[in-house]
Amino acid sequence: MPELPEVETVARDLRPRLVGAEIAGVRSSWARTLRTHDADAFTAGVVGRTIEAVGRRAKLVVVELSGGVALTIHLKMTGQLFVVPVGAPEDPYVRLVIELGDGRELRFRDIRKFGKVGLYEREPLTGDLVVERGGDGVFASTGPEPLDDEFTLRDFRRRLRARRGRLKPLLLDQTFLAGVGNIYADEALWAARLHPLRVARSLKPGDEKRLYTEVRRVLGEAVERRGSSIDDYTGPDGDGSMQERLQVYQRTGHPCPRCGRPVRRIVVGGRSTHFCSWCQRLPAADRKAVAAILRGATRGGRRGGRWVDLPPGDGVVGLTGDQAARTRTERTQRAAATRRAAARASVGATTSAVARLG
Ligand SMILES: [Zn+2]
Repeated sequence: MPELPEVETVARDLRPRLVGAEIAGVRSSWARTLRTHDADAFTAGVVGRTIEAVGRRAKLVVVELSGGVALTIHLKMTGQLFVVPVGAPEDPYVRLVIELGDGRELRFRDIRKFGKVGLYEREPLTGDLVVERGGDGVFASTGPEPLDDEFTLRDFRRRLRARRGRLKPLLLDQTFLAGVGNIYADEALWAARLHPLRVARSLKPGDEKRLYTEVRRVLGEAVERRGSSIDDYTGPDGDGSMQERLQVYQRTGHPCPRCGRPVRRIVVGGRSTHFCSWCQRLPAADRKAVAAILRGATRGGRRGGRWVDLPPGDGVVGLTGDQAARTRTERTQRAAATRRAAARASVGATTSAVARLG
């Protein structure tokens, strides 16, 4: 699922293409893509407005429209955004099309249909995005942006010390910090040499500082590299390259780049978690509790429980770790080939549209 760097890349790619364009119409083929309105109300709410800015907050693209309203686009698992000329080939996975006045359209393609598009008003006083005046802002409970200059080590420490719970679930919690997901949580914890199940409040000041620094460093590098093109993510201008720089994420069984021992995978809160049990050790006092959590879940009595320890290889039954890793690599390569073909078609179409318009 696209995280901060991927969504930031999408917003940056879209910005020069969309700012200044007027919305001329809307076509939607999957009603539930629209989060706040039915299709008619959504269309009435956006047609005739001009796109004034494209940005990001947490994992959502935010499109500012004239007249004090804004769209939010949550890509979720498989959402992709492309700007193409009217009449460009359209596959059945396009759920929403925003037609622009200049012969192009913004297409929201979403194979799994979890993505959501919302239409909000901007509160003049607070700047919050709301469905109705006086209502709660969409981002009212969203945590701070980790890459903002104003987000200091002091803030991070204060938030960390106010929380119960363990590091991996905490980093994924959008009310704690905005935009961090599974990939960059694993990478930041590995870089900071902190166990994913470490109790947040047990961190020493030096641990807190390393985690703060590494979360920001990993996210910053990923933004520079246009995100990680794993599964379905691609940007309007094509794939990212951060997947080549990941040290532990989806590298179960590979040697840890720091110590050479195999990267381990456990499932925490239903999410795959990759780490090095040598470099990311628990304090002695916490080992028993975590071992009990992991053991309890593997005994089979807690299916659907929160903690499950899995062997290497993604838990693919009947395959050794190596075979499973190969299968997954092949699957990822196939997905990447499909994605690149779609992106090429889209980029080609856009280029020819620009040529035609220019
Ligand atoms: Zn290691």
